[in-house]
Amino acid sequence: MSRLVTIRPGRVPAHAAEHRHTWAVASHHATSDGVVSYRRCASCGAWGLFVPDES
Ligand SMILES: [Zn+2]
Repeated sequence: MSRLVTIRPGRVPAHAAEHRHTWAVASHHATSDGVVSYRRCASCGAWGLFVPDES
């Protein structure tokens, strides 16, 4: 699994209720810590950076 480490909010109307982001993987990037992925919320356009869980 991976975990969300940072997020850039998308266009969320002021009246919109908080929602569970619907992440769609946009790109992968291999690092020494593993493969991180950038994902975009299909609902609000937010971007999230995910990294592998430490185990
Ligand atoms: Zn969202």
